[in-house]
Amino acid sequence: MKPIFRSRFLWELYAGYAAVIIATAMVVGVVLVRDAEHGVLEHIRDGLQRDAVLVRDIAAPYVALPPDSSFEQRIRALGARTGTRYTVIALDGTVLADSNEDPKTMDNHRDRPEIMAAANNGMGTSTRFSRTVSAPSMYLAIPVMKDGVLAGFVRTSSTLEAIRQRSDAVRRGIALALVLPVAAALGLGLLVARSFTRPLLDMTETARAVAAGDHARRLHIHRGDEIGVLADALNTMTGQLRAQIDTMATDRNKTLAILAGMVEGVVAVDREERVVHANAAAQAILGIDGRASLGRRVWEVTRVVEVSEALGEAMRQNRVRVSEVRIPTAQKDQVIQLTATPLRNAGDAIDGAVVVLHDVSELRQLEAVRRDFVANISHELKTPLTAIRGLVETMIDDRAMDAETRERFIAKIGDQSTRLSNLVSDLLTLSRLESGASGLRFEAMDLRETVAESCRTQIHAAETRKVTLTPGLPGAPVTIDGDVEAMRELVDNLVSNAIKYTPPGGRVDVKLATENGSAVLEVADTGIGIPPEEQSRVFERFYRVDKARSRQMGGTGLGLSIVKHVALAHGGTISLKSAPGRGSTFRVQVGLKPGNSSRREGTRSE
Ligand code: ADP
Repeated sequence: MKPIFRSRFLWELYAGYAAVIIATAMVVGVVLVRDAEHGVLEHIRDGLQRDAVLVRDIAAPYVALPPDSSFEQRIRALGARTGTRYTVIALDGTVLADSNEDPKTMDNHRDRPEIMAAANNGMGTSTRFSRTVSAPSMYLAIPVMKDGVLAGFVRTSSTLEAIRQRSDAVRRGIALALVLPVAAALGLGLLVARSFTRPLLDMTETARAVAAGDHARRLHIHRGDEIGVLADALNTMTGQLRAQIDTMATDRNKTLAILAGMVEGVVAVDREERVVHANAAAQAILGIDGRASLGRRVWEVTRVVEVSEALGEAMRQNRVRVSEVRIPTAQKDQVIQLTATPLRNAGDAIDGAVVVLHDVSELRQLEAVRRDFVANISHELKTPLTAIRGLVETMIDDRAMDAETRERFIAKIGDQSTRLSNLVSDLLTLSRLESGASGLRFEAMDLRETVAESCRTQIHAAETRKVTLTPGLPGAPVTIDGDVEAMRELVDNLVSNAIKYTPPGGRVDVKLATENGSAVLEVADTGIGIPPEEQSRVFERFYRVDKARSRQMGGTGLGLSIVKHVALAHGGTISLKSAPGRGSTFRVQVGLKPGNSSRREGTRSE
């Protein structure tokens, strides 16, 4: 803490007070001294006058006579006794006697101012340098009367040295009398100034500490006056400040937590487009380092110029600006919607902007898929319908068509209708599956039955195509929680595909087993196989590796899509291993129903 005696305020406060005290003391001192000096002079003059009156009575008989040595002697003795100088002067100015000097050596005194004044006014005084005693002296003269007639003068005088000594003594006394109270007043003043300065210094110190962040600091000034009230007010203010800062910190933490937890990216910039915040999502989308980007211009931080443009325009045009940008990354092609909003400060002036980055890649992809889907459906429906229309029109036009051709046409119309029907039923199944679990009825079911049933119904088709279909089923039930209809659809599709895409002489092995709490269905064929680059796409709707072949086989391109949906709707997985010309193996894994009695693993051929 700053030492109190180095406080400027203390000395400013004290200087005024001290000046008043000293000035007052000086004025009082001067007045007293002057008064006292005047008193001293008066006193000396009174003394001189008293002596003059005494000497006048002694001198009265001698003034009209010539100088008398005995009288002279007497005056001299008188002067030696009293310390005052006496001079007796005749009417003509001749000095008759003098207590200090020989009258014969002295000048005529008729023209001395005190003598002249005494002759005229009855008494005269004068202060001047006396050549006789070689010192400044005060003279007092009175007339001596004889028989009512002016006969001479008596003069008394005292050197000013005596006066000065008296005055000095008086001055010293006065000075001594003033020094003590002045010193006491000055000391008291210092104490008072200190008592005002100390709390002010404490307050300054505390205010500084609070400003520097020490909000727990409090003043301990307990006074009933305004300083005490001010200290209390400061303490209250600090408390409120702390509460407000706490609230702000809590709010800020909440905001940061919300921003950090947001899926959308948020980047906030100030008026100079310097980054003030970039949440985790924004860092991931833009591929930036949050800490390193703080305080830097947004266009230095990210190469996505649209972000800086959006922020800049939102500030310039003072409106919300929505745009979309494609940001390719190593993993995926992101489509980001940018919503830039200007930020205002308390004075409603634009102080920056915030941009929200919303990843709409999936949405846009879904839209594209939907568009493709509608186009595909239209195309798929149009092909058989056009064929049927062509056949019917030909039959109508050609009335004379022979019976054999007509039969063929009708058979073709039948095929196309079946295709249409298959297509519609596959679409219905897909839409049922896509509406989520609500479209399915889950119940405990034995998957063995479904697989056996599917193989039974398709054994004929396999035989027709000279393909050996072999089901491999375990001895115990494989109970899952599933939708019987959907599961049958799954197995049917896999087995029929295997038969369809396996040339005559090939094999199709259907194997059901349990493995680590899951039911595992494997449909393996020795068919044409699927090229590696196509393998991920065969599960897409309407995707076919060889379109012509699929159509020829009566395929709709929806089978594997349905299989995948069913597997996923049952919480399962599907995988594919295939090599062109060697065959394919589809593997579906679905969790067993909890408490399923079949814990024995393995398969048994039927
Ligand atoms: P489709 O009705 O055309 O069979 P799917 O969705 O069932 O449609 O199958 C998609 C495509 O995957 C088929 O067109 C075919 O090219 C290929 N495919 C499906 N299963 C097999 C398989 N077992 N062997 C070879 N290719 C297959």
